[in-house]
Amino acid sequence: MEHLVLVGSTHGNEWTGAYLLKHLETNKDILASKFFHTHYLFANEKAFENSTRYVERDLNRSFNFSDRKQDIHHEEKLARKLRSQISALSNNEEYLLVDMHTTTADMGTTLIVDNLSKFNLQLLSYAAKKIPDMKAFAWIEDTKSGFINEINEKNITIEIGPIERSTLKQESYERTLECVLVIKDFMEEYKLNPSIEEGEEVEIYKYHSKLDYPRSDTKLLKAMLHKDFEKRNFEVLKAESPVFYDLSGKTICYAKDDKLIPVFIGEASYYEKGFACCLTKKIKLKI
Ligand SMILES: [Zn+2]
Repeated sequence: MEHLVLVGSTHGNEWTGAYLLKHLETNKDILASKFFHTHYLFANEKAFENSTRYVERDLNRSFNFSDRKQDIHHEEKLARKLRSQISALSNNEEYLLVDMHTTTADMGTTLIVDNLSKFNLQLLSYAAKKIPDMKAFAWIEDTKSGFINEINEKNITIEIGPIERSTLKQESYERTLECVLVIKDFMEEYKLNPSIEEGEEVEIYKYHSKLDYPRSDTKLLKAMLHKDFEKRNFEVLKAESPVFYDLSGKTICYAKDDKLIPVFIGEASYYEKGFACCLTKKIKLKI
């Protein structure tokens, strides 16, 4: 691995990664390595200035270039620009793409991948040992989502929460930095031993489906998250688990017993995307 491409402010209102990126870029010794070059990419300046997730459309759903004939919105043009910037930086050599995010959901430290390549599994397995409460989420849907990570097979998204949007707080900042430093260590160890973590088993929460809020015909919410559900990320949903609470005060329980596990429960930016949480299945994969 010749390069580490570190990205922040893919979402302009997720300040943790944005500020950490600025700090790391100013203090290059922190990620300096004799094994690889580090590149710092501040993705969406304009959204960061506006303190919004995006200007016209979600940048982290805009990297599916084959789905559109031309770039119309700010983020579509930006995605294309970032892709060519990254390919110039990496000089067509191998690189790891690391994108730093936060969530309003109570998920702690989650590392997200968009594919289950051997390299990604090695990295997840290594990180899980170094960061005891870390979870691994493989967000792989039937159709590509347009995540920035989709431009490179070797990729990882750092997702830290809960933290409100457009805020900067110690715990999220430290957790993000911890992940970045573990990734740096992994890259150095991988360089010395590319079969690192081989034979190990890694626990993954694999994307299954989405669960939306009960809504009216005009898409307005008919219910909110149940207070007992809000903090239940990574816990198996049971048939009697309370999930929603409707406007008249009635509890709505999860109807099935399919052993699915919710993540991103109540993430604020997913109201507009039409889901209350992602449902996952826990799997174990041997490397
Ligand atoms: Zn984000």
